[in-house]
Amino acid sequence: MPKVLFATSEAHPLIKTGGLADVSGALPIALRALGCDVKIILPAYPEVLSKLSQTKTISQLYIPGIAGTIKLLEGKLPDSNIKALVVDYAAAFKRDGGPYQDPEGKPWQDNAERFALFSKAVCKVALKQANINWQPEIVHCNDWQTGLVPAILRLSQPAQIEGPYIPSVFTIHNLAYQGLYPQEIFFALGLPTELWSHSALEFHNQMSFIKGGLVFADRITTVSPQYALEIQNKKFGYGLEGLLSHRRSQLTGILNGIDDKVWNPIIDPLIKNNYDLDNMQNKSLNKHYLQKYYGLEQTNDLLLGFIGRLVEQKGIDLIIKLIPRLKQLSAQLVILGSGESTFETQLKQLAKKHSDVFRVQIGYDEALAHKIEAGVDAFLMPSKFEPCGLNQMYSLRYGSIPIVTNVGGLSDSVVNVSDKTLKSNTATGFLLDEPNATELIKTINRVTALYKKPKQWASLVKTGMSQQFNWQTSAKQYLKLYQSLISKTTSF
Ligand code: ADP
Repeated sequence: MPKVLFATSEAHPLIKTGGLADVSGALPIALRALGCDVKIILPAYPEVLSKLSQTKTISQLYIPGIAGTIKLLEGKLPDSNIKALVVDYAAAFKRDGGPYQDPEGKPWQDNAERFALFSKAVCKVALKQANINWQPEIVHCNDWQTGLVPAILRLSQPAQIEGPYIPSVFTIHNLAYQGLYPQEIFFALGLPTELWSHSALEFHNQMSFIKGGLVFADRITTVSPQYALEIQNKKFGYGLEGLLSHRRSQLTGILNGIDDKVWNPIIDPLIKNNYDLDNMQNKSLNKHYLQKYYGLEQTNDLLLGFIGRLVEQKGIDLIIKLIPRLKQLSAQLVILGSGESTFETQLKQLAKKHSDVFRVQIGYDEALAHKIEAGVDAFLMPSKFEPCGLNQMYSLRYGSIPIVTNVGGLSDSVVNVSDKTLKSNTATGFLLDEPNATELIKTINRVTALYKKPKQWASLVKTGMSQQFNWQTSAKQYLKLYQSLISKTTSF
């Protein structure tokens, strides 16, 4: 069974800003259950150090151009037997604020340096230059923060060199974030100069971290089959569609799973009343609790929810246009999120103006996120693009009907309500044809019409709750991919 080094800049429950953390927290556990020897590697943010147990220094790394030493620590993730290697360099990672942003929400000025250092440290471990008694057979990298790893690995392992070849897999969780920096930064990072080329890291005169993964990884994956197709086209490819299309035979979409221990209404300790299909009255109690929490009237009107980053991608502009129409649609809406200040301000103003039907909580609150999933009747996700999306799958599991756009992982995980799909009991949610406000309002009308037919609604909820999005299925696909690479010297 393969030895896998899983490189990531965040992992639940150590540190999380989005879906990448959910994947990094759950996939290694599922791979281990299949027999893989997996270690994750991530930067030593203070939050990570405070949550790991049995942490000890196992080595020191020397990286040319970096003053002082970098410690490599090993600790255990809470509630699992997964070991985490942690790259500890205080000047880069020991600071207040988020992993990518300062406490004011501005990107750290030295993000390129921080993640170049992290990537070089990952390569030291991968190439057995870290003085530890373990070497992976494969390195699985995630998003731009680890994009330099496949590039450095490939340059460090030219074909004529004897010894084991360590292949890399690069997973795109969101192509919109690419790690683009000016040319001078590239030259300041001490990378091999041959990487400054259109066929390597250069992208329209800038340095692109993500291109390191897209050009040099032995395999590229993304988090849903539909998104794997979409990024090969101009609309969603950000100018990288040519490269991705060129590499299409090495590009696969593997749908994320959901962590059934964390997101399961039967055992979820973060919700007021646990429930399953046979005691759905508890879901109604959760709805009333949520209405009370947000200060909304405890009616039986359709209660909608939204959780997520308040950014253009998530279609928050569409939701803003929906809010003044909620009353007329006999619906209430609760939002939990943080993001761009213009959206935060608009939502706060709308909450004052439409306080009878709409409330917002700005911030990040894991426990409230669970209570929203458990309490709402339907969940809004009108994303402009969505590599996979997790909340629509959590919603299905919690009997909260997803209302989503027909893109990426949303298309792959939600079956649209129609006469045919209702009859065959295959419908699980509502798909918008186009991501615009008119379409969203039209769809909410369809939702409320069905909500008024309790039998049909219950059947829709039942089909949704019976869907399986487990990590085992996804992990098996990753394992197959790893095995196909390990048996070869190189795939190029
Ligand atoms: P993305 O990774 O694009 O942000 P995903 O749907 O893939 O979106 O994953 C987002 C994850 O982060 C989900 O688990 C979601 O519940 C969680 N999340 C996002 N914003 C918040 C918030 N403000 N409070 C709590 N959880 C949040």
